[in-house]
Amino acid sequence: MSGTLYLVPTPIGNLGDVSRRCAETLAAADFIAAEDTRVSLKLLNHLEIKKPLVSYHEHNKKESGPRIVERLLAGESCALVTDAGCPAISDPGEDLVRLCAEAGVPVCAIPGPCAAITALSVSALATGRFTFEGFLPAQKKDRRARLERLKTEERTMIFYEAPHRLRETLDELCAAFGSDRPISLCRELTKLHEEVLRLRLGEAVARYAENEPRGEYVLVVAGAAQKTEAVSLEQAVAMVRELTEDGTRTKDAVRQVAEETGVSKNALYAAVVDAN
Ligand code: SAM
Repeated sequence: MSGTLYLVPTPIGNLGDVSRRCAETLAAADFIAAEDTRVSLKLLNHLEIKKPLVSYHEHNKKESGPRIVERLLAGESCALVTDAGCPAISDPGEDLVRLCAEAGVPVCAIPGPCAAITALSVSALATGRFTFEGFLPAQKKDRRARLERLKTEERTMIFYEAPHRLRETLDELCAAFGSDRPISLCRELTKLHEEVLRLRLGEAVARYAENEPRGEYVLVVAGAAQKTEAVSLEQAVAMVRELTEDGTRTKDAVRQVAEETGVSKNALYAAVVDAN
């Protein structure tokens, strides 16, 4: 019978956040797969746990993953830990879980610290509906395309970001969502210099133009304002007419009104042409 892969969340800054169940699971596993064995050794020393460690990270996952699955299939149990937080969320744990699922190896997730959820809960933004975006793509073109698609996202959005990219990302968020959009910058959560800044995107850009970003950040951004009032096709046609009378080109006016009202662009265009 095969062993189990345990996903063991580790503290995102405060060692006191390691749960009893996590410690017991680490102590009971046959071996531990760690993103950076040096980082995990510190935690294991703190917990006074001695276990064989194997390395599993972004740059060796293709070779290391199948070796871990082989050991699991042979009956050993493995605890997966990453540098901080919940394994498989924006880290290579995701691939190991998929490999195990494909091989029929049981996977057991233990709840615990997760930077995204910790930030969302303290953000003071709407938490009822949210979307986790993780890290934006590294390529500028791909990042812009992703943000373009998120322009109309009404749910609260959660982003991970490294300090050296923070300024650029804030500029891009501001360009995509507008300077008025609320953002909570959650920095160094659970650590000594924990800080939550609840600002508008424009204010955040100005603040970090003057201050060097330091530490780890989760950015929680309010969703686009909901289009509450349902606008009829006739009302939308009237709005287009008003814009065209002011000199806007029909095509541009139709696009703008469709975006603002949620009325279908094609239906609106056809109705405007019909009305002329
Ligand atoms: N799997 C982890 C989780 O979800 O908790 C996150 C791993 S991801 C590689 C690392 C990112 O998480 C950092 O770049 C940062 O955006 C965020 N993060 C981790 N610890 C943090 C902390 N203490 N405060 C703020 N953000 C943190």
